Amino acid sequence: MYKAYKYRIYPTSEQEVLLAKSFGCARWFWNYALNLCQETYWNTGKGLSRAYIQGLLPVLKKEYEWLKEAYSQCLQVVALNLSTAYKNFFDKRAMPPKFKAKHSRQSINYPQNVKFDGDYINLPKIGLVFCRRHRDFEGSIKTVTVSRNPDGKHFVSVLIDDAKEQPELVPVDKAIGIDVGLTHFAITSDGSKFGNPKHFVKRQRNLKRKQQKLSRKKKGSQNRKKAKLAVAKVHSKIARCREDFLHKLSRKIVNENQVIAVENLNIKGMVKNHNLAKTISDVGWGMFCTMLEYKSQSEGKQYVEIDRWFPSSKTCHVCLNRVDNLTLDIRAWSCQHCGKHHDRDVNAAKNIRNEALRILALGTSASACEGDVSRPGKTSVLLDAIPVESGSQRCTT
Ligand SMILES: [Zn+2]
Repeated sequence: MYKAYKYRIYPTSEQEVLLAKSFGCARWFWNYALNLCQETYWNTGKGLSRAYIQGLLPVLKKEYEWLKEAYSQCLQVVALNLSTAYKNFFDKRAMPPKFKAKHSRQSINYPQNVKFDGDYINLPKIGLVFCRRHRDFEGSIKTVTVSRNPDGKHFVSVLIDDAKEQPELVPVDKAIGIDVGLTHFAITSDGSKFGNPKHFVKRQRNLKRKQQKLSRKKKGSQNRKKAKLAVAKVHSKIARCREDFLHKLSRKIVNENQVIAVENLNIKGMVKNHNLAKTISDVGWGMFCTMLEYKSQSEGKQYVEIDRWFPSSKTCHVCLNRVDNLTLDIRAWSCQHCGKHHDRDVNAAKNIRNEALRILALGTSASACEGDVSRPGKTSVLLDAIPVESGSQRCTT
């Protein structure tokens, strides 16, 4: 099984310059090749192969001497990533690849030749960089991605093959259904409600103040740079808090249950509702589902997604009687058929759990995960681990 480990690295100022140059070369080559792909597509209706894009490199290196400063394999990976991004796009799995901007997150990928040496990581052409290895890994290194966040922090993401098979399914002792919402982040079928931490709202005033400061700074000035960094730091803090919350909650749920069922949400469609867009992007349901999925898989537990058209709220989980009308403001209701009093969300979560168990009993769990509902942010957690950078699937935080 492949696993990803992310560590923070602390390059010296010289190494930072070298890394910045490598990021720049990779970004420039990506944008150059993407532009070429787009022109070719408009003129001929066809794409460019990976081999063709890689074949451009020797010529380009003669023309642009500075391209030689980057490790050549990192540039070759760019060609691979771009062709994969196009393949995903043509297969309707992703949006078309985008141009990479200098101010956003930067990254390069080493397909091989990276080694750990004590507290240091040895990156070709960069040298030994101090790496805070807060936990160890077992297995062989597949690829290594070095990235720099807009707040100036550097990270390595190491993809490991531990040579183990995916664990066999564990016997089902406890199953849980999870209904997600905005007032409560998650409501489970055993009646627990987890509040929505609203990370963004909490820091909104701070962010606004720093953004206003930034807007008053003169373009190109040193103070503008500083103000920009301050804004990036707030964004980064929000993202880290959200990730921390989601990791802890998903870990707890996966530890306590063997079957985990959630509703397949159309987040993209919901984000189009501008009144709720910020709030919905902030809660991070997509990331939460991704975490539940990979954490379950690595422990032989079952993660099931229920079709989002399944009437989880309107059905009584006791007698399966369905009410026709249940507006969003009704938080609790009584079943006319069996007289049971329901909490709206807990009842929905119980239905989600029961539906998942029904699907698993029928042995068609695969069909529950299918359907052409694309989920933005679905790959966001593992994105660092996956060498493919389509540049489009990352959920904006
Ligand atoms: Zn009933």
